[in-house]
Amino acid sequence: MQSILPHPTQPVKPGTSTGQQYWQSTEKILDSYSPADGQLIARVHPSTRADYDRVIETAQAAFREWRLVPAPRRGEIVRQMGDQFRRYKRELGTLVSYEMGKTLQEGLGEVQEIIDICDFAVGQSRQLYGLAMQSERPAHRMLEQWHPLGVVGIISAFNFPVAVWSWNAMIAWVCGDVCVWKPSEKTPLTALACQQIIGEVLRNNDVPEGVSCLITGGRDAGEWLARDPRVALVSATGSTRMGKAVAEAVAGRLGRSLLELGGNNAIIVSEYADLDLAIPAIVFGAVGTAGQRCTTTRRIIVQESIYEDVKNRLKNAYTQLRIGNPLDESFHVGPLIDRQAVKDYQTAVQEIRTMGGRFVVEPGLVEGLGFESGCYVRPCIAEAENHWPIVQRETFVPILYMLPYSSLDDAIAQQNGVPQGLSSAIFTLNLREAEYFLAVTGSDCGIANVNIGTSGAEIGGAFGGEKETGGGRESGSDAWKAYMRRQTNTINYGTTMPLAQGISFEL
Ligand code: NAD
Repeated sequence: MQSILPHPTQPVKPGTSTGQQYWQSTEKILDSYSPADGQLIARVHPSTRADYDRVIETAQAAFREWRLVPAPRRGEIVRQMGDQFRRYKRELGTLVSYEMGKTLQEGLGEVQEIIDICDFAVGQSRQLYGLAMQSERPAHRMLEQWHPLGVVGIISAFNFPVAVWSWNAMIAWVCGDVCVWKPSEKTPLTALACQQIIGEVLRNNDVPEGVSCLITGGRDAGEWLARDPRVALVSATGSTRMGKAVAEAVAGRLGRSLLELGGNNAIIVSEYADLDLAIPAIVFGAVGTAGQRCTTTRRIIVQESIYEDVKNRLKNAYTQLRIGNPLDESFHVGPLIDRQAVKDYQTAVQEIRTMGGRFVVEPGLVEGLGFESGCYVRPCIAEAENHWPIVQRETFVPILYMLPYSSLDDAIAQQNGVPQGLSSAIFTLNLREAEYFLAVTGSDCGIANVNIGTSGAEIGGAFGGEKETGGGRESGSDAWKAYMRRQTNTINYGTTMPLAQGISFEL
């Protein structure tokens, strides 16, 4: 079987997808270490500014051709990409797991998300609908059309190294845009593998060079996209700090941005909850991807009358967690992305203790044979207070805060009482509580679930959040509209020139 990696023995180079590669870099090579075992698994050249400019010029030229390809035909090409990802699901899922450190099941799940969004985008390619409106003038017709934007810049985070790109790229392509992807500097190899996987489809269909581009590098490369007026839309996924910088740069040139930033997600556990559902959902939400999902459950807000019961059940569940190499499917929890993340975990633990927080499940590092990368930590649970600065911040590690509540209004106030607004959930079998939580009185998040945890969204819905999460929506529903520009058309098929609002203008 063909390798999903371009040049296994040499430092790999950024460029466009169908073969041509740009490389004049003299900059420091990006080293990708696996957090699973600490091995150096790839050395990748970062793009220079000159590389970047050539990539953008190639993308602009490709757009002039790609926008003319009928949308259903673009969808057919995306369908073929979906088939490629089906073919390479295990290889790419394994690489995601090895380079990023999430469990193999989650790595495979991430590739499945790519496949799902390809399928969704194929259908979408025949449904880029505009409206027809009634004109107030006789013999006039009004309609709206959606046209592609041009070059879409995609800046992605390390924790979903490939799925987030696909949510953007597959929809952008059927909309007629071309994409320039700047993956996380922590996971460049999975990005190169994706380019390699779709390269064959692009070549077989004579897709112009530049429809799918990749630039590598860190913050600088992301800033080039954010500041560049040739980039019509910058879709950026990452920390709120990064989102604020991107938002400012893009707004400064009156460009468009789509921001998918940090979360601080809570589950409300009511006295009417079915705890047999709630406990596994909390545990998966808190420890899945070692607490490194934007939708990770960071807080549980538990009704006082069941607080001790929930605490004991969680303690028991956490003792069953097995931590280890993510490629070994007998483990539930893999490593953090790098040693800096381990330091962040230790700093947070210290801050919790300083604030007077008590650990229900103790934190700690996991060391010794099999943990040589130094990236493995114990998922832990701390009793805390919602207003503590450490609870208000997103720390991207498996620390879960337990907070008690008295009334549902109190629970909702705590749930909403953080700067972020991504995902939220309530566990209750009480219909009134569930509806209250979903109503305007309830969660202020982009995602609000009932009897389902905060993480593990399906691609069919619009994904994103409010407040410091950035306000963007990606993936399903009508998120495609962010990748197109709306044009309102009025056509006069009559023999007179009536003006709107009945204004009279006689010559
Ligand atoms: P990060 O902000 O450090 O980096 C994300 C990306 O932004 C990287 O590609 C990085 O090179 C780039 N970048 C950094 N600073 C930049 C700048 N000033 N201008 C342009 N680009 C810049 O985030 P991370 O550590 O890779 O990922 C974790 C964060 O991402 C968490 O906060 C998590 O919640 C968030 N996230 C959000 C979503 C979502 O959909 N809401 C999804 C995944 C991750």
